[in-house]
Amino acid sequence: MLLSVVVPCYNEENNIRPFYDKVVSELCDIIQDIELIFVNDGSRDKTVEELKKLTEQTLCKIKAVSFSRNFGKEAALLAGLENATGQYTAIIDADLQQNPKYIIQMLDILKKNPEYDGVAAYQRQRNESRVLSFFKNCFYKLINKMTEVEFYRSASDFRVLSRKMVDAVLSMPEKCRFSKGIFSWIGFNVYYMPYDVESRLSGNSKWNFWKLTAYAINGIVAFSDKPLILSSVVGLLLFISAIILMLFVIIKTLIFGDPVAGFPTLASLILLLSGIQLLCIGIIGQYLAKIYTESKSRPVYIIKEKFENK
Ligand code: UDP
Ligand code: MG
Repeated sequence: MLLSVVVPCYNEENNIRPFYDKVVSELCDIIQDIELIFVNDGSRDKTVEELKKLTEQTLCKIKAVSFSRNFGKEAALLAGLENATGQYTAIIDADLQQNPKYIIQMLDILKKNPEYDGVAAYQRQRNESRVLSFFKNCFYKLINKMTEVEFYRSASDFRVLSRKMVDAVLSMPEKCRFSKGIFSWIGFNVYYMPYDVESRLSGNSKWNFWKLTAYAINGIVAFSDKPLILSSVVGLLLFISAIILMLFVIIKTLIFGDPVAGFPTLASLILLLSGIQLLCIGIIGQYLAKIYTESKSRPVYIIKEKFENK
């Protein structure tokens, strides 16, 4: 098998068919040795029915994995990669925001430049609000400072990976998966290719600001222990300041005999310090929660059914 195409799908009933047609015209007509791996991530609409109808088509080899509930895109990607048998594996969304024609370009780059092991596509121009763009920039700056691996701004999951890269991704046993980090962590030589993102054919994006924030925190916790170090440093700095302040108060009282005054100062200090303490406990809690999840060692997803054609 030359190319496996992994497609995570969550409530994409109206996109599946047009997506397939586009893949047939842009990919299957050019590359015959291809398999499509659809992962139905517990959709609540008719995505499974649409996928079953597709498996009756014989233009492309289709494998479909259907989860017992929604486990998230990360789980869907893992299931897709585990089922991919191709020499190369592409990851693409089902909503047609990413035109399958770019997969041909990515494959060409890999074939012409054997020094590259993968190609990741990034959006040439982001169609998102300035506020979101600002927060995303902050996230990338922060995570790049905090981790030893480099996170490429804008690089998405839309990419083509060589067999070696897929095997490396699958060799990472963690349950809390953050693919952006995993793709960077495994290393290899990745070419970054710009592409023009299109608008979603049907349905809505599954992301909102809060989901993105949780995803960002998840990524930082999964790939950096710097927040823990930072909380220790803050604790140490506060301890040193408290000693200096205490000495100052004692000396001032001994020399000038001033009574200790300033209830508001005390109240604000207590608020400030307890805030910092809670923040640090929260940071530790994030790591603890991850250890808890990892130690339970539950499967990343549960398969309800699997079907394929040919
Ligand atoms: N997706 C998924 N599980 C989820 C959320 C999304 O498999 O829990 C799939 C979705 O069907 C789509 C891809 O992941 O094919 C990207 O999702 P979406 O379009 O919502 O993200 P965006 O393009 O806005 O980043
Ligand atoms: Mg999308």
